[in-house]
Amino acid sequence: MKGIKDLIKHSSNYVEGLAAAPGIEIGPAFLYQKDILSIESGLIDNTDEALQNFDEAILRSKKELNKIFQFAKEKMGETRADIFEAQLMILDDPILMKSIKDQIIKEKKLPEYIVHKEITKYQELMVISSELYMRERAIDIEDIKARIIRNLQKKRLQSKVQHNSIIVGESISPADTILFAKSEVCGYVVDHGGLTSHAAIIARSLDIPAVVGTHFASHKIKTGDILIIDGFHGYVFINPTEDQLKYYKNKIDNLKKINIELVGLKDKPAETTDGRNISIMANVDVSGEIDTVVTKGAHGIGLYRTEQIIEELGSFPDEEEQYNIYSGLANRIYPDFITIRAFDTGGDKVKMMDFKEANPFLGLRGIRFLLENENVFKAQIRAVLRASINKNIQFMIPMISTLQEIKRVKELVNICRNELSIQKINYDKHIKIGIMVEVPSAAVMAGEYARHVDFISIGTNDLIQYLLAVDRGNDVVSALYQEFHPSVIRSLNHIISEAKKSGKPVSICGEMAADTLAVPLLVGMGIDIISVSPSAIPSIKRTIRSFSLKNAESLVNECLASDNEEEIQELIKKFFKENSIQRTRNII
Ligand code: PEP
Ligand code: MG
Repeated sequence: MKGIKDLIKHSSNYVEGLAAAPGIEIGPAFLYQKDILSIESGLIDNTDEALQNFDEAILRSKKELNKIFQFAKEKMGETRADIFEAQLMILDDPILMKSIKDQIIKEKKLPEYIVHKEITKYQELMVISSELYMRERAIDIEDIKARIIRNLQKKRLQSKVQHNSIIVGESISPADTILFAKSEVCGYVVDHGGLTSHAAIIARSLDIPAVVGTHFASHKIKTGDILIIDGFHGYVFINPTEDQLKYYKNKIDNLKKINIELVGLKDKPAETTDGRNISIMANVDVSGEIDTVVTKGAHGIGLYRTEQIIEELGSFPDEEEQYNIYSGLANRIYPDFITIRAFDTGGDKVKMMDFKEANPFLGLRGIRFLLENENVFKAQIRAVLRASINKNIQFMIPMISTLQEIKRVKELVNICRNELSIQKINYDKHIKIGIMVEVPSAAVMAGEYARHVDFISIGTNDLIQYLLAVDRGNDVVSALYQEFHPSVIRSLNHIISEAKKSGKPVSICGEMAADTLAVPLLVGMGIDIISVSPSAIPSIKRTIRSFSLKNAESLVNECLASDNEEEIQELIKKFFKENSIQRTRNII
């Protein structure tokens, strides 16, 4: 059995949707049907009684929401639970409440009818918004409306479902998502809603797999059907075949192994024993499920290598294709950030030129190719800007070696911004533009360059190869490719300390950061963000949590004084021993 494509080839027992929250589960379906609101528009004869009913319904709704808010805070943390606070604020909105009461008095119609009419007005404004984010929020408002009306009609709330079932519904509100989570459901399949819908965000926060946008799953699936939900790829299998079960049981076993370590550290900060907090992000290539593992302990994506798209597609993606991919990923990671890196073609990566270069690593690679091919670059910039409307994208430029390159990039970004503004296309006006520091000239000039950009990220994979003149992919010279060469240590220290003088955040996204031995040095030098492949995150976190910044700073000073690699490695190993830091490798 090769993969999912083989599982679905001759089958019709599945539905496909958007992979909204990662994870794989097998369990019975529970078809959730919302109460259909039947709203009477009848006249009232006692206005005071109607107003009192309305006040009571608001009070009860607040009570329910407060409970959900508390539970959400416990499970998902303050920030993500904010959506329920926002819903509570709507119930406290004096203008809305007054206008509903005024209408009840004026029209003398049942409060449920007035509530429906007034809140629908709000919703309609949101539904026609050009911003996906606002359209998604209209679903949340629907939840408030239904809650008040149900309480006006004094109906009970359906919130308990069979444990370990997979909820299938046409739409599921954030509050439903939370309430079902209380019953320990193991998946959500939702016909409507996108990746930024709160149901999707909540499912991600609660670590419950979700597939959304399935269109007709709720028509195809019955309560009691056995389902496999694949929240990594967006598939739901209904009453699976032996082959499908075997394939997924195997996947579940593998995932369990990976999760053992992740689970323990997922919600713990990457903080030294004396309180220095490092933000941990994930490096992501296009394919596979690793990108979603990000939600298991990283604060977003610190490096997304877009040249991989060319590799995967076998051709160059146009603006539209790129826009779809970038916005898809940004939605999937929302509200965390994704750092999209401009195409780093050339070198030993995807070749975009017809001619052969004698020294491709020193040739038309990364930004050099992009500035020679401005149409290609502009299409990418436009796609990134268009995908940035939820304000969780930053854009990073590889292979910068001169200030002129930075300036031209900024000019091109401005040109694209203006074009989009003229076309009335939305984008994040404050999108952050950063550079990779991976060429020695940029390392030397890091302090100056940092002043011109919003952030810098150190690419040690290339920095080491260019600094030591050792081809990173040539095993004949691999012994000379030394992460702990004193020149590398001194360069890193120079980049970090100089760039930090201008107050710009400094991250590292090269493989060196995934080596636990390098972590105390990087932290001691003052790195703000470490971005590594998701599988390395647990050991990086565990390492950071085992030493103090003060001790790491002393280690840095000792290493900076050393003139050879062996001694630096010894100093670090001694540090690990003295601080009882485990050096177990990751399980994947
Ligand atoms: C690097 O050079 O360290 C880096 C992260 O980029 P890449 O490996 O894609 O060149
Ligand atoms: Mg690089």
